[in-house]
Amino acid sequence: MSFSEFDLIKKYFSDHASREDVVIGVGDDAAVLNVPTGQQLVVTTDTLIEGVHFPTETSAENIGHKSLAVSLSDLAAMGAEPAWATLSLAIPVYDEAWLTAFSHGFLGLAQKYNVSLVGGDTVRGPLSITVQLHGFVPEGKAIRRDGARGGDLIYVTGTPGDAGLALAGLQNRVNLDPVSLKRLRQRLDSPTPRVETGLALRGLASACIDISDGLLADLGHITAKSGIGADIMLEQLPLSTDTARYVANSGDWDMVLVSGDDYELCFTASENDKDKVEALGCTCIGRITGEKGIRCLQRDGSFYESGRTGFDHFAV
Ligand code: ADP
Ligand code: MG
Repeated sequence: MSFSEFDLIKKYFSDHASREDVVIGVGDDAAVLNVPTGQQLVVTTDTLIEGVHFPTETSAENIGHKSLAVSLSDLAAMGAEPAWATLSLAIPVYDEAWLTAFSHGFLGLAQKYNVSLVGGDTVRGPLSITVQLHGFVPEGKAIRRDGARGGDLIYVTGTPGDAGLALAGLQNRVNLDPVSLKRLRQRLDSPTPRVETGLALRGLASACIDISDGLLADLGHITAKSGIGADIMLEQLPLSTDTARYVANSGDWDMVLVSGDDYELCFTASENDKDKVEALGCTCIGRITGEKGIRCLQRDGSFYESGRTGFDHFAV
């Protein structure tokens, strides 16, 4: 390892307080970590590539935030408590201002959720960020995709569709006024992982997933794994003012149903737990059915046919 690389890691990625369960963190050949007794380790990894997972003009602070947020969102969907992260960073040049802002975004979010950065790798190359995040669930308590049952209600957190609308605005596919675009960009560039909700859903949700590739595609993973179907009531979808205005003007529900990057949770729960779930601020959008497939019902009872499928890196 060269001196400057060591310097870089020390300067930007080791200046933070470690959790008590970190025996050895950044600085040795590998991290040594204590998994609490009675807990299972939950592990996720995600890679973010410039131009694919974030627009090229995204600020370094937001890139740092988002690269941890997407992994926090995965653990939230499992009902897991986040604990330790590793960070593999490929950067084209040594840029002090960029690294300062990036590490600020990353470590700021890490601190908020008591996550310790315990290791990583730093190389020169086209900008790419890989985060691995580790967390815990009490034994047997992880929320899986395959637990939805006929009659369960379907819920989402937040207001899906905002990130997709922001991207459409940035790419000039949709005309947005500057104030709306600014507000929506916040949702695209700096998503809020639903960590607290995910933890509260342990023992409450029958199945859960985070919406990264679009509501229909991700709910489709729950229905496929659970061997059931779903009815979505379009008018029950919780929309931000900006997205509601766009849908009202265009009739384009696909913006909400198909676009990705929201990092909201979509989950199912028994109707008996309706009050508990609604107390968490989640919105009921439909119901699990015995028939295969997802149907989207409009106010007049007719079906909405989606014109697209969710995001797929390898779709041809
Ligand atoms: P090695 O040559 O053994 O792979 P490195 O030189 O890559 O070690 O890294 C030295 C130490 O710094 C290791 O503990 C590694 O986990 C940590 N590290 C490297 N890059 C990062 C990073 N971007 N964030 C956090 N820790 C890092
Ligand atoms: Mg290394």
